[in-house]
Amino acid sequence: MKIFTATAAAQGRRHNDFNYCIEGELVWIGLVCATDRRNPDGGCGCGRAFAGMSSHRATTTAMIRDVATDRRRYIGALRASLEA
Ligand SMILES: [Zn+2]
Repeated sequence: MKIFTATAAAQGRRHNDFNYCIEGELVWIGLVCATDRRNPDGGCGCGRAFAGMSSHRATTTAMIRDVATDRRRYIGALRASLEA
């Protein structure tokens, strides 16, 4: 199943890139605060970041990888991340 994962590849292409995720962990597009909703390049960073489902950290770069999982397990992983 092709899904978004965290990567350090391409970090630095933008001056405000950051990566605090674990390489290869599953990511999703997380919640965005009011500050970044108005300006994704604002000081917070959540408006331009993916959220790590394991680390609960963020990264501005992600890549699609073919991961050995299926829809049911992916939903379970997202649910477990949100519960944590
Ligand atoms: Zn924010």
